[in-house]
Amino acid sequence: MTSIPRPTGAQRRRTPNRARSPEAAAGEGGSRRAKAGPGLVEPPAVLADVLPGLTAAPPVEVSLTARAVAAEARYQSVFENATWGIFQTTAEGRYLAANPALARIYGYDSPADLEAGLAEASEHFYVDPGRRREILEHVERLGGVRDLESEVRRRDGTRIWVSESVRAVRDAAGQLLCYEGFVEDVTARRFAEERLRASEERYALAAEGSNDGLWDWDLLGRRTYFSPRWKAMLGYAEEDVGDSPEEWLDRVHPDEHGQVVASLASHLAGDSAHFECEFRIRTKDGAYRWVLARGLAVRNAAGMAYRMAGSLTDVTERRLAEERLQFDAFHDALTGLPNRALFLDRLDRALLQAARDASQRIAVLFIDLDRFKLVNDSFGHPIGDELLQETSHRLQSCVRPSDTVARLGGDEFVLLVGGLKHADDAICVAERVHSSLSDPMLVAEREVHVTASIGVVMNEGRYRSAVDLLRDADIAMYQAKARGRAGHALFRSELHGRARELLTLEGDLRRALREKQLRVYYQPIVELAAGRLVGFEALVRWMHPVRGLVSPADFIPLAEDTGLIVPIGRWVLEESLRQLAEWRGGRAEACDLTVSVNLSPRQLSQADLVEVVAQGLARHGIEPERLKLELTETALMENADVAAEKLSALRALGVALSLDDFGTGYSSLGHLHRFPFQVLKVDRSFVRGLDGASGSSGIVRAILSLARSLEMTAVAEGVETDGEVAVLRELGCPYGQGYLFSRPVPAEQAAWLIGRRLA
Ligand code: C2E
Ligand code: MG
Ligand code: MG
Repeated sequence: MTSIPRPTGAQRRRTPNRARSPEAAAGEGGSRRAKAGPGLVEPPAVLADVLPGLTAAPPVEVSLTARAVAAEARYQSVFENATWGIFQTTAEGRYLAANPALARIYGYDSPADLEAGLAEASEHFYVDPGRRREILEHVERLGGVRDLESEVRRRDGTRIWVSESVRAVRDAAGQLLCYEGFVEDVTARRFAEERLRASEERYALAAEGSNDGLWDWDLLGRRTYFSPRWKAMLGYAEEDVGDSPEEWLDRVHPDEHGQVVASLASHLAGDSAHFECEFRIRTKDGAYRWVLARGLAVRNAAGMAYRMAGSLTDVTERRLAEERLQFDAFHDALTGLPNRALFLDRLDRALLQAARDASQRIAVLFIDLDRFKLVNDSFGHPIGDELLQETSHRLQSCVRPSDTVARLGGDEFVLLVGGLKHADDAICVAERVHSSLSDPMLVAEREVHVTASIGVVMNEGRYRSAVDLLRDADIAMYQAKARGRAGHALFRSELHGRARELLTLEGDLRRALREKQLRVYYQPIVELAAGRLVGFEALVRWMHPVRGLVSPADFIPLAEDTGLIVPIGRWVLEESLRQLAEWRGGRAEACDLTVSVNLSPRQLSQADLVEVVAQGLARHGIEPERLKLELTETALMENADVAAEKLSALRALGVALSLDDFGTGYSSLGHLHRFPFQVLKVDRSFVRGLDGASGSSGIVRAILSLARSLEMTAVAEGVETDGEVAVLRELGCPYGQGYLFSRPVPAEQAAWLIGRRLA
């Protein structure tokens, strides 16, 4: 109210006027107990007595009684020393009185200062310009106001909050005499309240806005408040969850329950600065979600926790992403199997354990699929991928759940098998793997045959590191592969040398091609009845500069795995045709000779095979029927559709086709008639001992009758004795090939044999 009355110069005369008696004041200003407005504080009535008639009315001389003097002094003291600001103003707004506290509140040195200062600043006194009118209206209507808070400007412009209680003082006729009242500076309280409200608002906003659930646990009352969000996070409605702490703890996943309880206990005991724990919690539908609970205990003076509150955050997404990352880092994306890193880690652990318990031995099996590159090349990568997935399933079925199956990459898999007693046990596992792979795999409605070469290493207690063990398993696998496919080899330390050898062999073979170290040897094929030479089988040889003559058995598998077989095969074909043309050159006796060239499955999948053959024949002027191409059953089964297509094209060219090593492969008769073969080569394993009691004559008889019924001619391979020839003749086998007639020989010797043909 202080700014409403306009202080005038008259106010400065209040000191002499203080001598006025209450009676006089009452007579002049009306009842000093003028009706207070509703709720108006009583004390201000006193003001009428203490600050009598500081009005424009002339002072009246009154003689004071001693009692009145004492009272005056009392009131004066109260007025001067009150901590509240006390004022009295005229209806027009002049200050009739203001105490020092009021001046202080408004930033003035003295009440006199205040009156002067406010005269100037009153327009801007209230921060809200409409405030003055509002207060006046209140006082008008109610007779007075109490504890009305307004923001005002002090002398220096700073803002403060004041609480004002004002009443209107009227005479008996109801005429307004003055306003009087109290002022209290409530700035500090307002600020504190404001801060509190802001912080409460912030808290409410944060709780509402955040995704976190909140909990507040009264440790003494054993009751817990769970916020609606806390319940909603677990899929519960407000009324579904009670207020016992078990509502929370009983839902924690058994695997983490102990950890949560321990972590809570540790914080409550004061051992940890805060409680923080990540665990799974059961939701209403029975599933588990990962949550992060954080909390802080509130302690009494003795440090004992009596309350604990905190939040619950759903971290499922993050956990899943982390688990995914973790999984990806240690697993193969295609098969989901452990990768090399995880395998080595498990192997290292297994080695440590085996070092403690010598009775438990472990083995590593290094498995490499044979000719997988061929599958990939001929069927395409999606089918190759399917094959690898199927392989991974089959491998898993060969071991116990505690063993590890991993994929190192490409077509390489490894097994870590524990709990073995002897090396034989590991070999058993290798055999199980072979047999589990032996059933054809059905991928994209095709049957694909897969074999694997397996290297086996037993931990004989000498291995310290997983890497060493894996390296030796790899070496053993290489050895198995070199011996021919679908086999296994147990690692022996001599193999270290052998592995190096194989590696250098590959490099050497590449050089052999470049530096023309390959030769073709020719083995005669003989008409059995007449003993007449009808042709030759071309067999490749390698004149190794250091090792001498290397047998194809030692480098053809390697050449197939590395793909080198394609250029080698082309060279053999070209060389054989050239040689045949050369033999025929001068001599009539060579005109009806045939040359048989072996074709690798890898070559069969070459797109330009038919073209290459046709061009070779044309280049050397050889009639197509003089060339026989030999293929094994295995080569056909690996890619039956493509093979059938290619063979038909070759057949259309007029080239003859021989089925090599018949009886050793898959021998699926169902497949046989699909392919246009003219020649069936009886494998030498059936020919050997044909003249003895081996009992194989029945098999050979069956093969020959099969050949006849398919309108094929037959060649017996590996004929070594006269007895064998006699039986073969008897069984009606038209042709033979073997050491009995001649070993494979260089071209010059073959030429000599041709020369003898007429003799
Ligand atoms: P294959 O096509 O079955 O060739 C016959 C193999 O039997 C030859 O072995 C030959 O030397 C051997 N042989 C012939 N007569 C007898 C005998 O009376 N007794 C015994 N024990 N063996 C006999 P080689 O030359 O070591 O060739 C082995 C295999 O290597 C061949 O078997 C063939 O599959 C492959 N090969 C040889 N040259 C080539 C080639 O140029 N390209 C392809 N892709 N493979 C080839
Ligand atoms: Mg052959
Ligand atoms: Mg053969």
